[in-house]
Amino acid sequence: MTTEAKNKPKVAFFDFTSCEGCQLNKLNLENDLLDILEHVDIVEFREAMDDKAEEYDIAFIEGSISTPSCVERIHDIRRRAKMLIALGACATQGGINAMKNLQPIEEVREAVYGDEKYRFPTLPAMPVSAIVKVDYKIDGCPMSMPEFLKVLKSLLAGQEPIKPDSAVCVECKLKENECVFDKGMVCLGPITRGGCDAICPSFGQFCTGCRGLISNPNKNAMLEILTEHGISLDEAKKRILLFNSYDHSQSMPK
Ligand code: SF4
Ligand code: SF4
Ligand code: SF4
Repeated sequence: MTTEAKNKPKVAFFDFTSCEGCQLNKLNLENDLLDILEHVDIVEFREAMDDKAEEYDIAFIEGSISTPSCVERIHDIRRRAKMLIALGACATQGGINAMKNLQPIEEVREAVYGDEKYRFPTLPAMPVSAIVKVDYKIDGCPMSMPEFLKVLKSLLAGQEPIKPDSAVCVECKLKENECVFDKGMVCLGPITRGGCDAICPSFGQFCTGCRGLISNPNKNAMLEILTEHGISLDEAKKRILLFNSYDHSQSMPK
């Protein structure tokens, strides 16, 4: 290793229960990858290299925690990392994986593994912050690449990244998009945390809520709007739970 590499912050990427889409997304950063490598030393990244490291300045974590071995491994990474960042909905909020938490865990285990279920210990799917301290979260399914770059630059500059907390609707209105409700679709933009530049409505699609809920979502009003637009109450609740099942007692109105 050169002296220059020794002085660069050591960055590592780890995957837990996930589709690995957030990590793959990073490998698509062709235009920015060389710039990034000038400023950091990537010391561990299973999808791209075989090297391993003992400690990291920044550990990026993709995926939810869903087995006892995940719990052990995330504690080990946390011990070795100065800073730990959760990447993508699975890691920040349990993501789609947490839908399994809506069923009794033993039934889920049986449905997936059948007679072999005793060989596969499982836990309810959890965000990384349920087990260890997380220093920052980058939301989205997949996480947004511009946001990833923005956060990385802030961290390298020693600044606290700013967490977006306005609804997707705000960004959507600023872009002067036609609201998809006016096109016969339904959209979770009013209660979903922005930061993605309202990318789905900007391409004519509805927001599925992948960045999780804003701090004070008006869930009753959201359910009312969805049902007024022809969605049954049951279906409306399921839509909100798609990315918010981990905290489902909080995600749904009483
Ligand atoms: S957040 Fe979405 S894209 Fe990222 S790992 Fe989870 S399921 Fe895949
Ligand atoms: S399309 Fe969705 S995000 Fe955009 S204004 Fe309408 S409800 Fe809000
Ligand atoms: S518009 Fe909604 S679904 Fe699309 S990326 Fe943003 S938060 Fe996710």
